[in-house]
Amino acid sequence: SQEMMQNTEKLSIAGQLAAGIAHEIRNPITAIKGFIQLMNSDIDGYNEYFDIIISEIKRIELILSELLILAKPQVKKLERKDINVLMDQVITLLDSQAILNNVEIITEFDTEDTYIQCDENQLKQVFINYIKNAIEAMPKGGKLLIQIKQRDEDKLNICFKDEGVGMTIETLSKLGQPFYTTKENGTGLGFMISKKIIENHLGEVHIMSEPNQGTTIDVILPLE
Ligand code: ADP
Ligand code: MG
Repeated sequence: SQEMMQNTEKLSIAGQLAAGIAHEIRNPITAIKGFIQLMNSDIDGYNEYFDIIISEIKRIELILSELLILAKPQVKKLERKDINVLMDQVITLLDSQAILNNVEIITEFDTEDTYIQCDENQLKQVFINYIKNAIEAMPKGGKLLIQIKQRDEDKLNICFKDEGVGMTIETLSKLGQPFYTTKENGTGLGFMISKKIIENHLGEVHIMSEPNQGTTIDVILPLE
């Protein structure tokens, strides 16, 4: 739609730049990784340095892949999708990760209308981000409640509620800044990208969190 397009064009120059750089770095990194793997197989015996190099390259690749999502913030192909189906697919994708971490995902889907106009892959990316964060916030396991509720006549509310470590005021205030992470292996990009995607869908994100009490993320999206 018109409004959505205008919103998309507002993507910051910084975001475009980051995405451009990420794209340029990805090719040489892929080449380097390939050659290192070849060298590794040429050498007799085990060398731990190769493991370190490969794992560092994988980390760069992870950061680049997250940055590259910024390269496609345009809501390219808007399609009519059933939000319940979309969410079920995402949950299936992350099921094994949840089980491995003793996290039980509970769903409550009760909307009358379930159809939205969206870029399916982008929206899935957002849900994956929030669910992964929730799992990572519960190192000892726990419950993640995912609700889809009607909100007013023309909106729906997708709620992710975890019982995890929660966020300090400092984290809450820095959330969404690129590269802000409290995790050893975090990228600090998930939140920023998710928010951007939701806003491109004319939606909103609200966060409620308290240390040791858990976190609730509310995503509001317009119904079709
Ligand atoms: P990353 O997950 O790579 O650290 P994100 O942008 O996804 O990057 O999240 C940024 C930070 O926000 C996290 O490092 C964490 O401190 C905090 N955070 C996000 N989601 C949650 C959550 N569900 N519970 C507690 N903290 C969270
Ligand atoms: Mg994350």
